[in-house]
Amino acid sequence: MSESAREQHESDYRARQIRLGTWIAVGVILIGAVRVQLDWHGGPWLVSLMALAGAGQAGLAMLPWQRYAGSPWMPRVMFVWWLANLALLLAFTAYDVAALAIFPAGVTLVLASTAALATEREVVGFGAVSVLGYLGLVVTRDRPVTGTLAALTIALMLGVTWFCARTASNRRRLDAARRTAERKVEALLENSSDAVLAIQPAGGVTYASPSVRTVLGYEPTFMTNELLMDITHPDYLATAVEWWQAVANGGPGHTARAESRVRRADGAWIWVEVIGTNRTGEEPLNAAVISIRDITERKELEEELTRQAFADSLTGMPNRALFRDRLEHAIARNRRGGGRITLLLVDLDDFKLVNDSLGHTAGDQLIATTALRLHQQLRAADTLARLGGDEFAILVEDINEIEAMDLAERLLTAIRRPLRLGNRDVVCSASIGVATAKAGEGDDGPDPGELLRNVDLAMYSAKGAGRDRYALFDPAMYADIMREAEERAEIERALARDEFVVHYQPIVDLPTSRLIGVEALVRWQHPVRGLLGPNTFIPLAESTGLIVPLGRYVLRQACEQLARWRDEFPSAAAIRVNVNLSARQFQHEGLVEEVSGILAETGADPHQIVLEITESLLMQDTDSTIETLGRLKALGVRLAIDDFGTGYSSLSYLKRFPVDILKIDRSFVDGITTEQGDATLAEAVVQLGRALRLQTVAEGIETAEQWSTLQDLGCEFGQGYLFARPGAASEISTILGDARV
Ligand code: C2E
Ligand code: CA
Ligand code: CA
Repeated sequence: MSESAREQHESDYRARQIRLGTWIAVGVILIGAVRVQLDWHGGPWLVSLMALAGAGQAGLAMLPWQRYAGSPWMPRVMFVWWLANLALLLAFTAYDVAALAIFPAGVTLVLASTAALATEREVVGFGAVSVLGYLGLVVTRDRPVTGTLAALTIALMLGVTWFCARTASNRRRLDAARRTAERKVEALLENSSDAVLAIQPAGGVTYASPSVRTVLGYEPTFMTNELLMDITHPDYLATAVEWWQAVANGGPGHTARAESRVRRADGAWIWVEVIGTNRTGEEPLNAAVISIRDITERKELEEELTRQAFADSLTGMPNRALFRDRLEHAIARNRRGGGRITLLLVDLDDFKLVNDSLGHTAGDQLIATTALRLHQQLRAADTLARLGGDEFAILVEDINEIEAMDLAERLLTAIRRPLRLGNRDVVCSASIGVATAKAGEGDDGPDPGELLRNVDLAMYSAKGAGRDRYALFDPAMYADIMREAEERAEIERALARDEFVVHYQPIVDLPTSRLIGVEALVRWQHPVRGLLGPNTFIPLAESTGLIVPLGRYVLRQACEQLARWRDEFPSAAAIRVNVNLSARQFQHEGLVEEVSGILAETGADPHQIVLEITESLLMQDTDSTIETLGRLKALGVRLAIDDFGTGYSSLSYLKRFPVDILKIDRSFVDGITTEQGDATLAEAVVQLGRALRLQTVAEGIETAEQWSTLQDLGCEFGQGYLFARPGAASEISTILGDARV
């Protein structure tokens, strides 16, 4: 039963008692009145007195229950009631000598009452002895009136006794229930993981649960305010005081919660959660109830999770999330002082290469070593974080730009030191971006996101400038990025609007200068800037990946054109169309399917198509390259190595690739008639082609001397301004038309 329900029950009970007591008193008065009618010889004064005594006795029987229920005064009050009973008996005796016969009964009454008092079974005891007393009167047969009255009184007394006994037993039941509840609470408090204290708003500890022992290690009786303050960690004193004030001054019912660190009796620091509820004004507690719970385990788990969430698993250093958090704090901290914040972004050059060639273990080792080396160059207050991959960020406060550049230089030197990975000595380098901001700038200081973007740009600029260096952020870098983004969008737009056109440059048979094929070369018919050569947009298309749709477009155009030429000119059946493939296109999944799809859709004969790939492409990822080349060849197309001689392909390499044609780079042709070295090289290339049974095409023939020298060297085919510049398809049509005639 809850506290309030029990209170309600008790007050109902008392009200009923008062009502009953009143009725009994009325009954006794009525009996007194009857007695006045029947028995005149005692005189009205005595009869009235007895009636009053009866009423008083009944009233007295009620009163103690109303006022002193459960109080230690109860037995005393009951003793008075007993005395009144005794007086009543004596009054009977004085009136009627026959009543003397009940004297032994009176003695019994005294003894029984005493026993009743001793056993605290007051009510039943009193009831019993009163009944005994009056019984004596009943047996006095020669006094019929007195006997009748005594019998009536007995009936009344039985009623009162029964009522009181029931009241008492109810009370005992209630008491027992309350005691059980209290014991339960006590047991709960003892076994609970919470230590419970009752503290007066003024500061005195009025109750401490036994569980204080398990939670704090102190004896509950030792708990005082001073002790509580003493065991609170100095860092949390302010919090604790604030919390206590909230509880104590919050008014009845107010609850406040706080977390704090306290020292247990055994000296261990634990995390606790304290919850205080103000219960002042609630009798008998009239204090704040405080529960203290040990939450150390939860806290440690929380901290571990936070650490995991904020730490990089490989190096144990802060990760991106924590770095950003630190950066925000640094900005907030420095805002007042107007200090300077410097960010450095370190990105290893060629990390992917190490990872791919030496394996992931070596890659991890490189990252860990780099982390260590960077760390050695920093002060304790600086933050070093791994943002992911081979990217590290450093946050340094209060250094100027000169010092920042100095630091970047030192970091580069540290990374350049050779390191041993597996059983190899490897030399690495890094590119570093540096960005600084004055924390006092603007209302909220610099924006952390913007700072991170700046330092990122600076790092990319260092990479672009040739790597193994640092670059200081410069707002102009944004302009570059913006321009690039715009150009990218422009290329996308141009693709959508069909602004790209394909020109064709003839490839001729050197001895006869007869047309044997054409090379498709893309142009951009720009609405404002006019016709643009590929050098102005191919690099960007490559870096943005737009080369894939652009290359697809060129191939489709070339194939469609070839099909048209074949429809128009029979001689076109003997020519070939060369199409350039960039490395990015080559790595693109689905290239082979795309090429075969275009061939099928346009109806171009695969044997008339030559795909030009660069030498450097062959150097990358050899196995899958050979596989892709094989699949392309299986479509029926031929393969040419473009710009041959500028790369590093060795003879053994070339033998492994299923290529058909070598295109000798223009740089050899350029100096072929003037520089001895180039002529020798060109000759070597031609001979190499022959040895491998490949056709050779010389590029960039501009003069007749170059032409004849190349013929002398045994080069079969050529391409160059001497024969024709790249031109619109119609120009080739003219040549093909002439050939028909
Ligand atoms: P490339 O594949 O080496 O193409 C030959 C380049 O040399 C062409 O420049 C051509 O106009 C130029 N050329 C031809 N004969 C002579 C000559 O006698 N003297 C001089 N000085 N140059 C000559 P272009 O059209 O400006 O193309 C430049 C590069 O752009 C190409 O070099 C090729 O790598 C790339 N490119 C062109 N079109 C495409 C394409 O559709 N896809 C891809 N991926 N790259 C393309
Ligand atoms: Ca080419
Ligand atoms: Ca070329």
